[in-house]
Amino acid sequence: MLLEEQKMMKDVAKKIARDVVAKHAEEVDRLGEIPWENIRVLAENGLFGVHVPEEYGGAGSDMLSHVAVIEEIASACASTSVALSTQALTMAPFLLAGTEEQKQKYIPRLAKGEVLGSFGITEPSSGSDVSSLTTTATKDGDDYLLNGQKVFITNAGESEIYVFVTRTSEDRTNGITLFIAEKGMEGLTFGNKEDKMGIRGSVTREVFLDNVRVPKENMLGDEGKGFKILMNVFNETRPVVGAQAVGIAQGAYDYAIDYVKNRKQFGKTLDNFQMIQAMAADMRMKIEAARLLVYQAATKLDQGEQDVALHSSMAKCFASDMAMSVTTDAVQLLGGYGFIKEYPVERMMRDAKITQIYEGTNQIQRVIIGNYIFKS
Ligand SMILES: Cc1cc2nc3c(=O)[nH]c(=O)nc-3n(C[C@H](O)[C@H](O)[C@H](O)COP(=O)(O)OP(=O)(O)OC[C@H]3O[C@@H](n4cnc5c(N)ncnc54)[C@H](O)[C@@H]3O)c2cc1C
Repeated sequence: MLLEEQKMMKDVAKKIARDVVAKHAEEVDRLGEIPWENIRVLAENGLFGVHVPEEYGGAGSDMLSHVAVIEEIASACASTSVALSTQALTMAPFLLAGTEEQKQKYIPRLAKGEVLGSFGITEPSSGSDVSSLTTTATKDGDDYLLNGQKVFITNAGESEIYVFVTRTSEDRTNGITLFIAEKGMEGLTFGNKEDKMGIRGSVTREVFLDNVRVPKENMLGDEGKGFKILMNVFNETRPVVGAQAVGIAQGAYDYAIDYVKNRKQFGKTLDNFQMIQAMAADMRMKIEAARLLVYQAATKLDQGEQDVALHSSMAKCFASDMAMSVTTDAVQLLGGYGFIKEYPVERMMRDAKITQIYEGTNQIQRVIIGNYIFKS
């Protein structure tokens, strides 16, 4: 399914995953620290901007290459893949709706991995129901004043560039507008690091906006068009989360298969038992099916097809449910050792969980898919 150039990108990522990223994965999880060394190597190899046009500092490749790269990095360390996926999430509204000036000013630094970016959507009372958000942007002369609170923002406090989803009028969906902010702006502060179950090497914090003054040039897309931009952003980023899930599952599968080939019980290695073979067969089928859905969604994005929202939701939902199932089975295949932190499948099972939650929970993906089936 991958063309030569896409395979080359995937191979580069595979090598980095094996030679660099995998070596730090256990420590990154244990210490709960951002994998700066991995990020540096990813940046040096141009992996932050795989799908970004060359004129904005990217490699000028496509979404299919992008998801293939994410998959490889996630197979070694999900936390490191979150650095890539959050960067893509932050760049997406610029690429989709930014002015030429905004694109030139912000995208190259993000695409080259020189700085990190964050996208602030979620609020204490506004999660799945994005259009209920209450952070406001109020016009004040030639500027806007941003006020409110965001929660669960990946890389908050570490990022230099922020996109915030705000309300510029009472209209539920047509009153939503995006703004760009930068670290160091007066009134932009961050909460403590959340202590998380998984992807512990990515930082998640609250963000407080207290009269943050941004010039009107920092409005990203037209006033009131934020909700539509956001939905288009999700079309692009949900397959990326799907790719992350496929990678995590592949990493756990590879480890478990190797383990059962070597672990002896009842005088034979475990791979001789039919029940173990059947589990391995199910895991393999699920991973391959999820990968195809992710690649299909990415291809539809590359080809600009109409039904991309449906395919992005299906890819994200199926792949993340698959990752939870496959990593749980991987733990099972290792028996008691699977439950012990010394073995990586335990981390992978914890890391898989977030892929069912962020970028729209899997219930929300099913709502979207159901709407396509019955209302379109
Ligand atoms: C580690 C981590 C990183 C994150 N990173 C970011 C980030 O960088 N930027 C950002 O903006 N957000 C981020 N999020 C937030 C994430 O996207 C939200 O947590 C998610 O969208 C769910 O919102 P919620 O937590 O408020 O849950 P709720 O919306 O309160 O949902 C609770 C439960 O109810 C279900 N539910 C809600 N509505 C329906 C419905 N209509 N039908 C059926 N079930 C429903 C949900 O599926 C879920 O199971 C992150 C979260 C985490 C944990």
